[in-house]
Amino acid sequence: MKSGPVAATSPIVEDYLAKTRSSAETYGSAARVLPGGNTRHTAFWKPYPLTIERARGYELWDVDGNRYIDLNNNYTALVHGYAYPPVAEAVREQIGRGSGWAAGSVAQVALAGQIVDRVPSIEQVRFTNSGTEAANLALAIARAVTGRDKALMARHGYHGSLTEFESGHMDRPWTMTHLADFNDAASFDRVLRDKGSEIAAVFLEPVLGAGGIIPATRDFLNAVMESARSAGAVFVLDEVLSFRLATGGLQTELGLVPDLTMLGKLIGGGYPVGAVGGRADIMKVLQPDAGLIFHGGTFNGNPITMVAGSVTLDELTAARIDGMGVQLARLDETLLSAANEFGLPLRIGRIGSLMNLHFSDGSPTPAAHRKAGRLASLFHMAALNRGVFMAPRGLIALSTVCTDAVMDDVADRLTAAMRDVADEF
Ligand code: PLP
Repeated sequence: MKSGPVAATSPIVEDYLAKTRSSAETYGSAARVLPGGNTRHTAFWKPYPLTIERARGYELWDVDGNRYIDLNNNYTALVHGYAYPPVAEAVREQIGRGSGWAAGSVAQVALAGQIVDRVPSIEQVRFTNSGTEAANLALAIARAVTGRDKALMARHGYHGSLTEFESGHMDRPWTMTHLADFNDAASFDRVLRDKGSEIAAVFLEPVLGAGGIIPATRDFLNAVMESARSAGAVFVLDEVLSFRLATGGLQTELGLVPDLTMLGKLIGGGYPVGAVGGRADIMKVLQPDAGLIFHGGTFNGNPITMVAGSVTLDELTAARIDGMGVQLARLDETLLSAANEFGLPLRIGRIGSLMNLHFSDGSPTPAAHRKAGRLASLFHMAALNRGVFMAPRGLIALSTVCTDAVMDDVADRLTAAMRDVADEF
């Protein structure tokens, strides 16, 4: 095995540059008017990201005409793939009736009702436009309830790009956020014992998403929830990513009853969304006459997002959720045996329809994942060259519209990409 940075003569990089000349050109124009050429760090990779022209079902096409099977689905949000006909139909109809107004809508009551029906811990819902805004709102609610101002979260956790939440990307913990170690209940308990009197809320993901698809243990989640309550803090479960893992979110599988739940991504059916749900006695701080929180938002609960989300939830059945899990378990086996055959160090974090490839010898840890490194970048690019689109950090999130035949094709393409990497590494 050779070591060192990606060589300028890397055949994988050369292949990417040759196939994506129009993307390179578009990126050049983008970089003049957008810092870094985009509006999202998570949609950037070196030397430049693809520019996608259109998407349908499980497929993407870039401006050079290359076709990709998409295993990213806008970072898990498009659980039924792109332009899913029932969602597209509902949205088309709603557009004809208006995209938003400063008053109530039947559509937002319908989606809130579906969420309340699915998640036993949620009695009431307030919509936002992103998961980041949901985190902001959950913290505001917790502050109003407790009269405290700080948050506690897992090191390398991710609750959106709000500056008050340490995101693990910058090694720069913000003063509003205390940190403890994921899957280490004692470390949360220690912080809560020491600093409990200033902590309004404890935020946890049931699966570390940006940290590499590392599931929490049930015992850990229960213990942290108990410690949070003993310290008088609100326990917020972030199901923005994990809601796709069971019809009522992962909390129903785990038997967990959080005080508040953050939602986002799939509940908007591909349109901007976030939500906070929880017990009515906590959510009541949002009542306009309570005088405790002012929460506006021009596009909160807009009917386009609401109808797209409603159809998406209706169509996300337990059978479909299970089916994606079976498909991903098979891909997991194929990738591990290919890595073994080609002598590449690969570990996989996986739960249901979510998986993360970790190119390392050790068991996946959030800290190691953040430093994913050269092998991961090379594999990402080799996969693109072979027509498979996934997140640069190795995240894979399936959609319900990928058939078994498509997944067989994916397995062949990713095996070939592994061989490309092994030849070069
Ligand atoms: N929480 C989790 C667990 C997430 O994975 C994300 C986004 O990836 C967010 C919150 C933030 O959501 P958004 O990107 O919609 O702001």
